[in-house]
Amino acid sequence: MASAARARSPMNGTVVGANFSVEITIGGDVAGGDAAACLVGVGVDIDAGVIAPKHSHPGEEIVYVIEGILEYSLEGKAPVRLKAGEVLFIPAGVIHSAKNVGKVKGSELATYIVEKEKPLVTYLK
Ligand SMILES: [Zn+2]
Repeated sequence: MASAARARSPMNGTVVGANFSVEITIGGDVAGGDAAACLVGVGVDIDAGVIAPKHSHPGEEIVYVIEGILEYSLEGKAPVRLKAGEVLFIPAGVIHSAKNVGKVKGSELATYIVEKEKPLVTYLK
């Protein structure tokens, strides 16, 4: 359908800064926008003892831990442990991994501000 027919909630819109433009689309169609980046929210569950292997993203990742204890290793930095309610910022392109170091399931909300047309996750070979 034409973009005029797109359903827009009050949360949707475009944020334009000095050197960035981010289209915020929640629960809607991100195609058809002309912004270079889009906002993506993903819920991730990691079972106890499991490692999410080294990867990177074509943009920033903001991690919010919902439950459990997750340890994040960013390239060139000491690992950091986050528990429920804590937040971590991962800069664009920085290789990182996450491990559930607790005894129960860990959950995070990962929010990405990423370039369109690129894979959200690139795993290290
Ligand atoms: Zn990541």
